[in-house]
Amino acid sequence: MGRLILVSNRLPVTIQDDPSGQTVSRSSGGLVAGLDPLHQSGESIWIGYPGTNPDQNVRKLLTEMRLEPVEIPSSQYSGYYEGFSNSAIWPLFHYLLEHCNFDPSEFDDYRRVNERFAKKILEHAQDDDTIWIHDYQLMLVPSMVREKLPGARIGFFLHIPFPSVEVFRVMPQREELLRGLLGADLIGVHTFEYTDHLSRSFRRVLGLESRHGIVNLSGRGVRIESHPLGIDTASQRAAAYSDEAEQILTRYKRSFGDAQVILGVDRLDYTKGLTNKLEAFKLLLDREPRWRDGAVLIQVAVPSREAIGSYSDQKSELERLVGEINGLYGRAGKTPVQYIYGSVSPAELGALYRLADVALVTPIRDGLNLVAKEYVAVRDDGAGVLVLSEFAGAATELGEALRINPWDIDGTASQIERALDMGFGERNERMSPMHRRVVENDVHRWVDRFIRSLGSPESEISATPPMLSSSTLAETLAGPFAASEKPLIMLDYDGTLREFTPRYEDAVPTDEILGLLQDLGGLHGVEVYINSGRDRHTLGEWFDGLNVSLIAEHGSWGKFRDQSDWTRLGPPPDLTWKAEALSILEDYVSRTPGARIEEKSSALVWHFREAEGDVGEWQSLELTSHLENTLASAPVEIITGSKIVEIRQYGLDKGRAYGIVEVERGPFDFILATGDDRTDEDLFAQLPPEAFSVHIGQGGSLATSSLSSPASVRRLLAHLVSVRS
Ligand code: UDP
Repeated sequence: MGRLILVSNRLPVTIQDDPSGQTVSRSSGGLVAGLDPLHQSGESIWIGYPGTNPDQNVRKLLTEMRLEPVEIPSSQYSGYYEGFSNSAIWPLFHYLLEHCNFDPSEFDDYRRVNERFAKKILEHAQDDDTIWIHDYQLMLVPSMVREKLPGARIGFFLHIPFPSVEVFRVMPQREELLRGLLGADLIGVHTFEYTDHLSRSFRRVLGLESRHGIVNLSGRGVRIESHPLGIDTASQRAAAYSDEAEQILTRYKRSFGDAQVILGVDRLDYTKGLTNKLEAFKLLLDREPRWRDGAVLIQVAVPSREAIGSYSDQKSELERLVGEINGLYGRAGKTPVQYIYGSVSPAELGALYRLADVALVTPIRDGLNLVAKEYVAVRDDGAGVLVLSEFAGAATELGEALRINPWDIDGTASQIERALDMGFGERNERMSPMHRRVVENDVHRWVDRFIRSLGSPESEISATPPMLSSSTLAETLAGPFAASEKPLIMLDYDGTLREFTPRYEDAVPTDEILGLLQDLGGLHGVEVYINSGRDRHTLGEWFDGLNVSLIAEHGSWGKFRDQSDWTRLGPPPDLTWKAEALSILEDYVSRTPGARIEEKSSALVWHFREAEGDVGEWQSLELTSHLENTLASAPVEIITGSKIVEIRQYGLDKGRAYGIVEVERGPFDFILATGDDRTDEDLFAQLPPEAFSVHIGQGGSLATSSLSSPASVRRLLAHLVSVRS
């Protein structure tokens, strides 16, 4: 394995311009805390924007620290950073459409800056390196790098939420962003919900199917996994229990006396629900006078992205609310809301975590929320209560917290009160398991898991089989086929033996195909199967009288060559879903000229080969998403094939049918299986390693080799006939 290259918008250092020259200090923050130990311990390099133009000395220092600055002209930086990253992606991914500004020229800057990052990566990276790219500012980089370094291992981690597809598809550059991500081998997000949203977007926007969390591209799989970020518990605790923190804590305790302390720590961002939080606190004081003296809210608001208008508007609104509450309920020596506008040191933050009886975390949307985890990590005394928004990604791991919906001001006020009134026993019961979980799953573990998963061979789930000519493949197969005592040939029909036709009923077998099957079926000892998705009546009619066995509807039905009747191979039919699915398909037929429905015994197929232009593609994406939602709990699979969307009963596939043939008719000492679409991959996956499998057409497959067309399959079969005749 080569080297590790870390890539993030900012380098993990802050460069300060002083009159006497520039100075460099380490930045703080969750990502730096997580990746820095990894960077320090190995030979990795870290690529990012340094924040300013480094002078000669600083450049040297950065090189020594293996930090590689990306140069970005300020004219491009604002369009990229304040613009597209933080006024389009950030608000949209946090479901705040009213804050979005989709400016095409800012997207141009975003693309250009992403190109600069990719270029910098390519200056350093080699084909066997591992590249780990971070966050929403760099979503186009994975594909830009992949194009030049096809063999690199590329990971991407998104630190913010990935929204529901109905929100994501508002993004004018939705295709570019998704295609950018597809350059990665592994895309990490904080929660399973985000993995689900991302897979659905790939399907809805790009028509890409994913199975078991893997999007299959031709030749490559892209895995989507949930890896919730952990925190650096050791350093959090060290800061919180330092001498400095101790002194600060004593000072705070003195000034608040017996009042319970509620703590909020947030970047001043409209996603953090700060006004909702203050309104809920106000409501509590309005209706419960005992808390006017009995509780104080310390709110740390860390300045953020002040160059963006919506951030400064928010600040004024917040200050107005703080003023209102303190005006109403403050008196000499008592200020209900202690508002700290600015950053606090790690020791002060640690002291505040130790001081707080209640941590109040109220984002209206948050990828994860580290403050919640930090509070839990520090509170091993069990005396604190975490009140946490259900819209923070961290809520999935912190189930013992008091959960709130920050939009429900009344409910939030009640939960704050419940927290304040909670006795030590319950506080401890809730806090202890969360504390253990957070300490166990710290940031080092997060890094470890992601890197291990990125390096695991499952990333290479689908390779591109070599494309051979029919004569080359025939040469390879001829010897083993001639020598075999019990060979099995399993053939898909549409797109494999026979070319597609505009209307599926018209793809009747030609004389050439019938002649070939006649010859193959006549070979001594050879078992020939047509394993097709077609219905049994059609197959029975078309191949009547030939010495071949038939498997219909992806393994639902079988008719062995020495039998005259069909037998059910699949599980008993469950067709409870069919009527509803049919009415949806009919609706999509009526709005898509050229589309048609095929009904099979345990499946329905929506065909759109004859639809005009891209209307069929577009409607098929919408249809698929509609079916996935409506039939979410039905026992069906929804699969997209060549110009079709098929809904079939769960538990039927061509691989399963092969298994039955193997048990009933095997073992075989030569196996050749062929197929052209996704349903044939189920078959290839079931074959023993010594089998020959052939994928028809370009692209990725589990097959051992590819042929270009049905015509070359027929040439191959003709050759095999001659070998044993
Ligand atoms: N934090 C900080 N300076 C402060 C207060 C807090 O650096 O003055 C840190 C805090 O410890 C936490 C991070 O900022 O690690 C905030 O992370 P979170 O996930 O809560 O929100 P984000 O800012 O990433 O949206």
